[in-house]
Parts: sequence; structure tokens; C-alpha cells
Amino acid sequence: MVVNLDRLYSDRVRNLKASDIRELLKLTDIPGMISLAGGLPNPKAFPVEIISECLDKVFKNDIHSALQYGASEGYPKLRKVLAERMISKKKVQCCKDDVLITNGSQQVLHLLSLILLNKGDTFIAGSPTYLAAIQVFHSFGAKCEPIPVEEDGMDLDSLRRNIRRLYRLDIHPKFIYTVPTFQNPSGVTMSAEKRKALLDLASEYDLLIIEDDPYGELRFEGDLAPPIKSLDKVGRVVYMSTFSKILAPGFRLGWTVAHKDILNKLVLTKQGADLCTNTFSQYVAHEYIAGGYLDKHIENIRDMYKRKRDVMLEALEEHFPEDVTWTRPNGGMFLWVTLPKHINARNMFSKALKKKVAFVVGDTFFPDGSGTNTMRLNFSFSSDEIIKEGVKRLSEVIKEEIEQSDEMMEPLAEGV
Ligand code: PMP
Repeated sequence: MVVNLDRLYSDRVRNLKASDIRELLKLTDIPGMISLAGGLPNPKAFPVEIISECLDKVFKNDIHSALQYGASEGYPKLRKVLAERMISKKKVQCCKDDVLITNGSQQVLHLLSLILLNKGDTFIAGSPTYLAAIQVFHSFGAKCEPIPVEEDGMDLDSLRRNIRRLYRLDIHPKFIYTVPTFQNPSGVTMSAEKRKALLDLASEYDLLIIEDDPYGELRFEGDLAPPIKSLDKVGRVVYMSTFSKILAPGFRLGWTVAHKDILNKLVLTKQGADLCTNTFSQYVAHEYIAGGYLDKHIENIRDMYKRKRDVMLEALEEHFPEDVTWTRPNGGMFLWVTLPKHINARNMFSKALKKKVAFVVGDTFFPDGSGTNTMRLNFSFSSDEIIKEGVKRLSEVIKEEIEQSDEMMEPLAEGV
């Protein structure tokens, strides 16, 4: 007898679908395909030799502990150096006990859903925002209240209006999820004023803020406001970051700084999820930071990604038609393209694949499915030459699409 899987699946997963991005990542393997789609760091930036030296040290000094189970909170020495970095680089006052290490920061999005979200709860997120966060929150049956993201971050007037509207309906959202710095997908950064105002608003309505900061250290130029967490005196902000963009995602290491009660609950759920974070990679990462390599390495990545951003900006300037606009991010890995209103990026996607170039359709990142005329381009992964060629190919697809839609919109001749 065939197993009736549909009967067995929980309500939570029955309707789960693979994200466009995950599906798209498969395309990077097709020969000749240029992918400006995925969110991958550049593998040439991985500090392979120094990682190998750190491995040798772990083997020489700590290998038996590194191969053992560890505390669910994380390797104490790594927690300590991360707390010190949070103070020195991010102006977040914390100590080792305030830091939880997880298998990537993605894991903590899942654990936070476990501890915060009941079916039917409402959370608030920018529109557009990081897709895989929204998907996890949705999988717990929560509803998103999308708030437009402007050039300097979330539209706080709209946020206040919508919180009030929800309150009138007796709906009290649980948290605001935000990627305030070099946001994935749009590359925009929240201004210092808005960071403070967002925290004030969250206090007024007693909401948590989940501040997701994977890209903050990838700053190419300009001043950067410290994280919202640095302004938080009462534990209202859950801050998370990751080694994925500043060292290598294969380590699967992220960290969270939060109120002690929240950390306790996260640790309890983490025990059910995986007992502890990969001990071996925590030892190697600790060796890497303690050896003083991380800051120099981050400088190298910044230089490389800045150059790649400039290569992409130049290519866009050279090839893209006039009525297309794009962001000019001061850091991170992505920029955001806006096509004329009547052009649907999703319709263009299969045509782009025929020309062997891939991007991510922007509406994927809008919780309400809007943003149909937008797309996300990644500049960190490809070589400079490939970026130029990819943008050129994409510009041909866009020009054809605009021409065709203009023809269709041409007024009918009189009398016909
Ligand atoms: N948050 C954001 C905004 C991201 O862009 C990513 C990865 N692309 C993550 C969280 C998860 O990263 P990781 O699990 O590798 O730490």
C-alpha cells in the first residue's frame, strides 16, 4: 500500500514550498549560466590558508574537546570573544553570558518562532525583506503586517498608522523583524534617527525588535549608525549576526545577543533541535578570531566587494535603459533594480534564462506579493568579467521586454 503522506504531514509543513532563491541556486551549476541571483559570498575571499593554520592549532591543542558535544549556549571562549567584539565594534554592552551561538543565524529565526509565535499571531516586517525569515514565521502560522521600506529604512509613519489600526482590531503584534543595515534584498540602510525612533515606537507599543545584521561589517564607505541593539537598555532588541558573510557560510555559525529570559528559552528549544552548535567549527572560528585574523580579513572582503559593486554600477550605467533605476548601496552584497511600473520581472525571468543570466524576481521579497517590477542583483559572487557580461545580457532582456510592452500599449489607429 502506498503511504498517504498528505495525511501524515503536520499543518505546519503541508503547504511549505521551496523558495525561488533555493531553486535558483541550482541554476548556478548549468554550464555558461551567469547567476546574479544567489546570495553567496565570493569563494575566492575564503581565507583558506589561515583556516588551515587554525585547524592545525585546534588539532594540536584542543582536538578532544573540539570533537566532543558542547554546551547548548556555545563554546565559552567563542562567546567571550564575540561579546568583546560586540562592545568594541557595535557599541553593544554585553558579556559572554548574553551571547548564544547557533548553527547559522537562520537557526535562531527558527528558534525565535518556536518561543514567540502562536498560530494566528501577527508580526511586522519591512516590505521588501529577507525571504527566508518571513517563510519561517509563516510556517508557524503567523501573519505578516508589511511596512514599506524607504531609502533610509522602514517607513515609520506607515508603521505607526498600521500598529494603531491593528490595535483598533484588538491585534497586538509580537515583534518587528528588520534587517537595518545593507538590507537583503534592497541594500538600503536605516538612518540613525529611524533606528532610535523605531526603538521608541517598539517601547510605546511593547513590541520586541528582531534585528538581523549579517551585512553590517561589509561597509565600503560612509558612516554607519550602530545597531538598534546598542540603544536598547531593557532587552527589547534581539540582535543576531553570523560568520557566513565575514568568514565562510560553511562554518554554519551565527550568534545572538538578547535578554537573559529570551536566551534561556532559546537554549531550551535549541536542546530539542540539535543539542549544541557544531563544536568543531566553533573551536576553529575561535582560533581565527583569537589569532587576530578577522579584522584584516573583513578589510579584504570590503575592498573586493566594493570593487565588484562599482563594476556592477558601471555596467548598469553603460547598458541599462534610461527608465530603469537602481540603488547604490554603501555595503553588503546586493543592489536593487526598479523597472518601469508596467514591466513584470517575473515574466522576464524565463527569457533571461534563455540568454543564460539569472536574477531574483523582486516580488519574492514582498510579503504581500507587490514589487512586481523589481529585481535583486548580487555583486559579491561572480568575477568582474562575469558581472559585466551578466548585466549586458540582462539589459538586452529588459530592453526587449520594454519594447514589446510599448508596442502592446500603443494606441489603436483611429477607425480600427
Ligand atoms: N538573515 C539574513 C538577512 C540573511 O541574508 C541570511 C543569509 N543569506 C541569514 C539571515 C542566514 O544566514 P546564516 O544562517 O548563514 O547565518
